Amino acid sequence: MSERKEIKLKVASAYQRDVGRGIVRIDRKAMRELNVQPGDIVEIIGTKNTAAVVWPAYPEDEGLNIIRMDGTIRKNAGVGLGDEVTVRKADVKEAKKVIVAPTEPIRFGRDFVEWLHSRLVGRPVVRGDYIKIGILGQELTFVVTATTPAGIVQITEFTDFQVSEKPVKEVAKTATLGVTYEDIGGLKDVIQKVREMIELPLKHPEIFEKLGIEPPKGVLLYGPPGTGKTLLAKAVANEANAHFIAINGPEIMSKYYGESEERLREVFKEAEENAPAIIFIDEIDSIAPKREETHGEVEKRVVSQLLTLMDGLKSRGKVIVIGATNRPDAIDPALRRPGRFDREIEVGVPDKQGRKEILQIHTRGMPIEPDFRRDRVIEILEKLRGDERFRDVIDRAIEKVEKAKDEEEIKRALRELDERLYDEVKARLIDALLEELAEVTHGFVGADLAALAREAAMAALRRLIKEGKIDFEAEHIPREVLEELKVTRKDFYEALKM
Ligand code: ADP
Repeated sequence: MSERKEIKLKVASAYQRDVGRGIVRIDRKAMRELNVQPGDIVEIIGTKNTAAVVWPAYPEDEGLNIIRMDGTIRKNAGVGLGDEVTVRKADVKEAKKVIVAPTEPIRFGRDFVEWLHSRLVGRPVVRGDYIKIGILGQELTFVVTATTPAGIVQITEFTDFQVSEKPVKEVAKTATLGVTYEDIGGLKDVIQKVREMIELPLKHPEIFEKLGIEPPKGVLLYGPPGTGKTLLAKAVANEANAHFIAINGPEIMSKYYGESEERLREVFKEAEENAPAIIFIDEIDSIAPKREETHGEVEKRVVSQLLTLMDGLKSRGKVIVIGATNRPDAIDPALRRPGRFDREIEVGVPDKQGRKEILQIHTRGMPIEPDFRRDRVIEILEKLRGDERFRDVIDRAIEKVEKAKDEEEIKRALRELDERLYDEVKARLIDALLEELAEVTHGFVGADLAALAREAAMAALRRLIKEGKIDFEAEHIPREVLEELKVTRKDFYEALKM
């Protein structure tokens, strides 16, 4: 093997539009040093090895010595944000055979395998890698369980690509699997706080020890339902590689006499044994309401058990309890004393920009077909005048669009002229559509926006059913239909009516 230069780069998060594509972005200097071109494959070495396709960094990232990658690639390399990785040009072979297994039971047919294969052509993989794929507003996770040959292989259209029927066992247990910071929209500042308060002590308790400050034991997340509190807890557990245990207040309280305390003790024991760990208590106000509001003896006993367990936590910093509530003042003040839930983070209703980010996340991998309205298209083309890539075609493009009879003709004209120009215009139209949807969904929280995206995909599906393109009786949806499925602006508005 020839000498391959290695460099060290700091891990940074991916831009939303890059998530799930198996790419990393590095700057020109790093590309020169590694002797790679855009489109080449690099090996990324953290606590694990993985590979990704290299793309050029955005101008503002030049000279920062960072490598941008999404949460799945971070997981595959066994690193978190801010960690250092070693990067070198990959010694990559063509994949003869690749077997992937889902992380949860799914039903699928030959068509799905072909569709998934086609989505992954060009993707470099290593045995053990996770792959996340968006389909119809949902995300599926697969694990690469075998490759021939071994090492870094690139999937081609000739690869014998197989999907196992059986889900992978070990991972199916961890509920946090796959949730990363890039899956959370509109909460940039909140994520920053969560990282400082929770991720840092879980990963580096020694820092706190050295500085002589106490890492937090309990953090309270408060805000309306559906704003992403559970998502945040799962993401930080995943990103810090921590064991995750979720319990639910009302469920604990419904246990029989003495069982609630017993369950709490079990949970804390499991956490300490598996530290670093996060215990997530949803609707904590139902376990620990203000004592004056409490009538039953049960609540008092459960609260004092919880307090005893928190006070008794030995593994300082290595076990953190996250409590979630939408009524922070309804909680027993004893819980909020120092050494208990003494930090709190507000998780608010998203603003317009936040709603747009959340919509971007939940339409990831969704085949959106925007309207190609003439005035909009021309407006975009005018803006693209300054773009060097399209200098030679832009005038002709505008002329053709002006002459086109309808939207179909506009699309055809752009595609014939320059496929990249068409892609760019389409991407901007999709962006404008999400912007518009963000505008009209004032008051929606993350859960509402996720439902909106799901419903829009369902509306698109229903359209195909009406047109007779999908046979309800058929075992599997044919690939042609999967590819024909396009979610339109109308589908989103249809979904909004519900
Ligand atoms: P909470 O715990 O605050 O009630 P969840 O985290 O359970 O809310 O959110 C429910 C679902 O709504 C999530 O699984 C996700 O699909 C979506 N969701 C909520 N908030 C966000 C967000 N900020 N970004 C992206 N998706 C979100």
